[in-house]
Amino acid sequence: MIHTRNIQKVFRRGEHARQALQNINIDIEEGEYVVISGPSGSGKTTLLGLLSMVDVPSGGEIYFKGTEVAHLSESKRNKLRRKHISVVFEHIHLIDELTVYENIEMPLLYLSNSRKERRRIVDSLMERFRLTHLRGQYPGRLDNLVQQKIALARACSCSPDVIFADEPTGRLNSTESDEFFDLFRELNEEGQTIVMATHSSDAARHGQRVIPLYDGHVVSRAVER
Ligand code: ADP
Ligand code: MG
Repeated sequence: MIHTRNIQKVFRRGEHARQALQNINIDIEEGEYVVISGPSGSGKTTLLGLLSMVDVPSGGEIYFKGTEVAHLSESKRNKLRRKHISVVFEHIHLIDELTVYENIEMPLLYLSNSRKERRRIVDSLMERFRLTHLRGQYPGRLDNLVQQKIALARACSCSPDVIFADEPTGRLNSTESDEFFDLFRELNEEGQTIVMATHSSDAARHGQRVIPLYDGHVVSRAVER
């Protein structure tokens, strides 16, 4: 589903250039649950940004379902991203001024679903993630696990081809993390492709396959920390 060919990412600040990723060649197939693991600063967030089409590489190619996306115009890339990709973040990024229902509905407003379809989708996700009783509440008052479940429901609402997650349990304790990972596992068992970045070896063991990153390269064995 996603294939990268020699992708590079260089960040320039004035005179300084920092190579955050070099020669990344990875292949992610439909239905996989892949973990990108590595210490802080190894380039996980940068790589997720490229794979999820938020950012573009400084060199190389990225194929998403056969389309090369690194050289698409920003508007085409955004359109493709909204239709096919969702992201869940460590800093949960819900909109505090919107209710739980409205937050989950958000991604659908960019697509062509009718109001009735949106309602059906959001209602069923709220039921699935046991959020129905919170429908009209505002997320700022809810605990972190509940907020991350709302973010996951929102990520699911557009039926994405891939859910990317960047340290999704960074703000959760171990019991909450286990509950969150149960939801990931269930989604993946139903065929959802998931790509998660984490520095935590506890979190990394939940995936089916680990891509270890170190100093911006994919390494062939896990690096001792
Ligand atoms: P990780 O998610 O594994 O902690 P990042 O992808 O955030 O790693 O960062 C990889 C490297 O790229 C780090 O050295 C970081 O300082 C640098 N970097 C990331 N984003 C930027 C940016 N926007 N500008 C400059 N340097 C950046
Ligand atoms: Mg990061």
